[in-house]
Amino acid sequence: MGENFKAHSLLQAKNIMTRLGLDEYRGEQVFKWIWQKNATDFLKMTNVPKELRTFFESRYTITGPAVAAVRQGNEDVKKYLLELEDGEHIESVFIREEKRRTVCVSCQVGCPLGCKFCATALIGFKRNLYAYEIADQVRVIQADVDDKCTNVVFMGMGEPLLNYEQVVAALEIISSPLALSIGRRHTTVSTVGLLGGIESLLKSPIRVKLAISLNFADEEKRKELMPVAKSNPLRDLLRLAKAYSLKKEMVTFEYVMIDKINDGLRDARSLLRLLRGIPSKINLIPYNEHPRLPYKRPADEKIERFYRSLLDSHHTVVIRKSRGQRILAGCGQLAGDS
Ligand code: SF4
Repeated sequence: MGENFKAHSLLQAKNIMTRLGLDEYRGEQVFKWIWQKNATDFLKMTNVPKELRTFFESRYTITGPAVAAVRQGNEDVKKYLLELEDGEHIESVFIREEKRRTVCVSCQVGCPLGCKFCATALIGFKRNLYAYEIADQVRVIQADVDDKCTNVVFMGMGEPLLNYEQVVAALEIISSPLALSIGRRHTTVSTVGLLGGIESLLKSPIRVKLAISLNFADEEKRKELMPVAKSNPLRDLLRLAKAYSLKKEMVTFEYVMIDKINDGLRDARSLLRLLRGIPSKINLIPYNEHPRLPYKRPADEKIERFYRSLLDSHHTVVIRKSRGQRILAGCGQLAGDS
C-alpha cells in the first residue's frame, strides 16, 4: 500500500510537486481536495492533469479514521468513536450551540498523566496522534453532520502539550484557508499546566486560546489528584498564565467542581486569592460522573453558591453547561466506551 498523502503538510505537498518539476500550486490543489472536498481518490481530482492523478494513485493512498460508532444525546451533541488505521480508537465530540459548531478533538490515544477523576486516565497511554489524525476528526465530523465547524477545542483524550509538534502541525491544517479554515481565535488548547509546553507556546508565533485545567487552588490537593502537579508547581504555572494573558490571549482557568473535594466557599476564596492580578476567565465545570469513578457532581445549590462568591472579582466567571453528560461525552468522560 502506498504512503498516506494526508500525512504531508501543505509545505511538504508543495515540495513534492516542485521535486516532480511541477508548479507548487498543484500541491495546493491536492491539499484542497483532501481537506475541503473529502477526496479519498486521486483519480477524481478533476482539475489535476490526468497523468498526475494516475501517478499519485499508483504512489500514494488517502486514508483516515473511520467512524466506528456514534452516540447522540440530542440533536445538538454527538460523541464519535473513531477507529484509526492501526486499529486504535479515539473519541471526539460535536456540540451545536446557537451559531457555534464545536468539535472537541483528542490528541493522544489514552493519556499518561493519570488525573484521578478523569475517565481517559483509566485507559492508560497508547500513543500520540499524528497531526492529520487530529485534524481529521474535524473533517470527518463536518462531513457527518453536513455542517461547517466554527470552533475546535483540544479537550478530548490526552494532553495536547505532551504531543506539542503534532498539535502545532494540526493547528496549521485546521486554520489553513486551503484546508479546514477555522481561525486560531476559534481554537482552544487545553492543558493541565505543563510548564515546558506553555513556555514553548509563549515563545512561538502561534496565537491560539489557552485553557488551563487548574481544578484545585490548594497545591497539596492538586498534587494528590493530578500527579502532574508535582513537577509543575502552581507558582510557575500562574506566572506563565499571566504572561500568556498579557502577551497573547486571555487565559481561561478551568475548575472542575467535585462534590466535597473542591466545592466549598473556602475553596472559592483560595481560588480568588490565587488568581489575583492575572487577567483571566474562570470556567466552572460541574463534575461529569463516570460509572467507573467514585467522584460526584456537587448539588446545584453548591455550584450556584460557589459561582456567586466569585462574581465580585475582576474575572469573567461562567458555569459551563455539560451538554454531553448523558452520553458520557462531557469533559473528562472520554474513555473509549462508545
Ligand atoms: S484530565 Fe486530561 S491530562 Fe488528566 S488524565 Fe485526563 S486527559 Fe489526561
